[in-house]
Amino acid sequence: MRCRVIGMWGGYPKENGPCSGYLIEQGNFSVLVDCGSGVLMEVQKYIDLNDINHVMLSHYHYDHSSDIGAYLFSRLVNTKIGRANEHLQIYGPNDEDIKRKVEEVEYSKFSSFNEKSEIHIGPFTFTFLRNIHPVETYSIKIESENSKIVYTSDTSYMKELIDFAEEADLLIVESSLYEDMDGSSSGHMNSKEAGLLASQSKAKKVILTHLPHYGDLENLLKSARNEGNENIDLATPGMLIEL
Ligand SMILES: [Zn+2]
Ligand SMILES: [Zn+2]
Repeated sequence: MRCRVIGMWGGYPKENGPCSGYLIEQGNFSVLVDCGSGVLMEVQKYIDLNDINHVMLSHYHYDHSSDIGAYLFSRLVNTKIGRANEHLQIYGPNDEDIKRKVEEVEYSKFSSFNEKSEIHIGPFTFTFLRNIHPVETYSIKIESENSKIVYTSDTSYMKELIDFAEEADLLIVESSLYEDMDGSSSGHMNSKEAGLLASQSKAKKVILTHLPHYGDLENLLKSARNEGNENIDLATPGMLIEL
């Protein structure tokens, strides 16, 4: 299994980097997890849009989902000119309005998931944990035959994540805030909490994501590593992790 970080900024994109988007691949099979602002442009550096037929959205905040509208139109155009021959399948938390908006564009389909769902797509199995965040949001676990990736998306720290992420080969953990900031009311984690989860879950490799646009990110990294798991790095656009 491979994970390509497409974007990792919290809230809004930067000149040279999109918001959340992760391309998960095994062999020739690809799933895009989250499709925030800037992702649709950046992902084309690595893959033809017509070669991704499954997009999994953790929640509907713009920094995780806003490029999906343009993705639907790309599939419409590319199907009509003969470059795409499969529907674009969008998965996300249940939302009638989103389902209607996806399916009113021809050649796209919508499926919902919740905490009880187990979704099999190609070589991958997806399971979910409900987060603490202002809108319905899920942590996502992606398992293939030999490896396991856990992506927290946006959430305050919660104990349930320790089991969910246990011994993940790759933990993609949000670290929206610096150690001296409190994320419990805004639905986010600070660097100490991200580091704590990295340590408690015994994740084998960890990347900090959903990064803040201010401060020194090296301090964010240092603070997370201080909690005991040394195998932590900052996510960067284009970063490739092979498991
Ligand atoms: Zn959010
Ligand atoms: Zn976010």
